Amino acid sequence: MDAIITDFRARSPHVQQAGLVRARRADGLRVRQQPFGAVVYVPGRDRFFALDRRHADLLRGIGTTLTGIMPPDETEAFRALAELGICVTDPPTPELPHAARAHVGDVPDVPVLTPYPLVVNCFTTAHCPLRCTYCHADDLMSGYRDDERDAGLREVIRVAAATPAMVGVVTGGEPLARPDRAERLITALAGEKAVVLDTSGVGDFPRLLPLLRRHAVHVRVSVDSADPAVNDALRPINPGYVGRWVSAHTSALDTLRRAVRAGVPCSAQTVVTTRNGDLDGLLRLRDLLVAAGVRTWVLHTVVPAGKAAMPGRAGLLTGPGTSTVLAELARRTAEDGAPIDVRVTGTHRAPHSVLLISAAGELAVEDPARRGKTVSRVPRLFARQAVLRRFRALVDARGHADRYLNGTLDVSSPVRLPTG
Ligand code: SF4
Repeated sequence: MDAIITDFRARSPHVQQAGLVRARRADGLRVRQQPFGAVVYVPGRDRFFALDRRHADLLRGIGTTLTGIMPPDETEAFRALAELGICVTDPPTPELPHAARAHVGDVPDVPVLTPYPLVVNCFTTAHCPLRCTYCHADDLMSGYRDDERDAGLREVIRVAAATPAMVGVVTGGEPLARPDRAERLITALAGEKAVVLDTSGVGDFPRLLPLLRRHAVHVRVSVDSADPAVNDALRPINPGYVGRWVSAHTSALDTLRRAVRAGVPCSAQTVVTTRNGDLDGLLRLRDLLVAAGVRTWVLHTVVPAGKAAMPGRAGLLTGPGTSTVLAELARRTAEDGAPIDVRVTGTHRAPHSVLLISAAGELAVEDPARRGKTVSRVPRLFARQAVLRRFRALVDARGHADRYLNGTLDVSSPVRLPTG
């Protein structure tokens, strides 16, 4: 009987006039309860949000199909969640860009998360057709290429399955350099985790499109500048893999445009160095991405790890002013009403905030003290406990949360924060 009444109310013009809504969870939404409420991951935007208890409870009350009529005092809160892509309402609420800390409601300024990884980055391969000047992963590629075997990929899949992360990133090395391995890894991860494909765009991207659609994979493409010369100087090709005429810049933008045309959710990521870290250049890149239809942009300040830690590369490392430039970029983006999310990571401040699985299936975490990675095998017995032990011992918990919750940006950024 309740269902019939609910359905009647849903269709009633009074409901529409009163501004009431029905709601459901967004497709593919991942939710993890937390002491302060919940952390959610929105695959379409490749964004995490921390919800206070009130919003987490509201979300818990709805399913994956449109549910009931929300009481008037909850309507605004559901609309606020829908603006972030966390739920869908009827009548529809348009999603809004978001360039501030990812807190919804009354979340502590520095939320303490349950000690489980949010994201695990899984190497598909140690091969890459680029040789980026700052490559963070170089030390997990150079010694691994010659013996890259099928057994290594099986180990990556086993260790990823033992890692209770909400999101699995298919990365490398370049996944498109070994598309068969990328296909197997995506398929294996997609059962339990939301999946992100991290790519330079150099390779056979169209081959992967059907699989990406099937598993609702988010594609994240690296591009460092609107200026092809600046981009390709930071991200030169490796002629041992591709012809000298290939451009990382052209490949990245082609891949983004293809993903947008195919309806595959995608975002761009940029490593900020002294060569591309000026505000004007970043605003030009933002406008290029917006014109290409990209709606999420993540910026990482270059980390003194991998190649960027090598002698002679110190010239790429930025100074303390970069944080101010990136905060200003987020502020200007919100002020301009540009339809793109801006997420800024602070891995340069806490290089040990990322959990990696090497192409041979080892767990790897950057060790800032010695500017190299701590690498360890995961036993077959009690693998999950072993992964969690190492995650808790080696990964900086605050840095991990900040990286994915936009903690680097000031919570007071002048964008509309939902308050319910
Ligand atoms: S594309 Fe990624 S893995 Fe390849 S060289 Fe550049 S930073 Fe390193």
